[in-house]
Amino acid sequence: MRAARPRLPGWLLEAVGNGGPRGMVIAPRSGNRRGEQDPAYGSLRPSFLFPEDRWSGTAVRACGTLPLIFWVEMIQYREQLWQRTLPAVGVELQTLCAQKKSWIAAATARIARNQLLMHELYLAADGPAMCCRCQGACCACGTHHFTLVNLLAYLIHGESPPSPNFSQTCPFLGESGCRLPVARRPFNCVIFLCEDVWEQLSEQQQRQARHLENILRRQYQMFDKHFAGSSLHGLLIRAERLDGQALLAPPPGCVVAIG
Ligand code: SF4
Ligand code: SF4
Repeated sequence: MRAARPRLPGWLLEAVGNGGPRGMVIAPRSGNRRGEQDPAYGSLRPSFLFPEDRWSGTAVRACGTLPLIFWVEMIQYREQLWQRTLPAVGVELQTLCAQKKSWIAAATARIARNQLLMHELYLAADGPAMCCRCQGACCACGTHHFTLVNLLAYLIHGESPPSPNFSQTCPFLGESGCRLPVARRPFNCVIFLCEDVWEQLSEQQQRQARHLENILRRQYQMFDKHFAGSSLHGLLIRAERLDGQALLAPPPGCVVAIG
């Protein structure tokens, strides 16, 4: 996490976080009327221009907007991919050995604890009031924030995440803000503190936030070492890349055993 950056109209660019850019759209397009969600960061372009998404074709980039027919098709595509991925991961999880399931339960619990600690810093900075005024601008690029780790945090307890709405800028953005509890919110969302929030933290709190971000990143990336479908680039992007292959299979070249 980085210190304050100037607030400018339009897209902000900053190479931090999960290795890619992060930023916000100053004018949110929809949702979050009461501005209650936790901060998030994402691609600096509208989600349909996400670089790893199949919809990021040159023609679309060139014109900068997506014709309605492609927009509808894109939403349908993501919905279908989600509908295939959710049960597939559920079935795969059932076939895992007890040791792997227990590792997933413990690892997601550790992540949940650290995410709550990060959220305490956000609360200490009076984040909700600022997000309310801003109306959750940084959730405008959340399409691919949700990862396999976040899905497993639900499935390992026999639960399912809220039904995503892919017509929103983030599929988990509701009228009253984020529909995911802090403990199961994506890494990108939890670690992002925009400059307005960041400046409210003391130096010690900023150090703590950086420390927590580093720990959380390592904890998420630990899943990447064990499961092919895990990546901070997002669940659906990985599912698309794997094209029907198991998301909970070991990634190619995996040498790290769970246990
Ligand atoms: S105030 Fe900052 S963290 Fe909160 S929603 Fe706006 S950009 Fe995001
Ligand atoms: S999951 Fe979506 S709605 Fe929730 S904080 Fe992240 S970007 Fe915002």
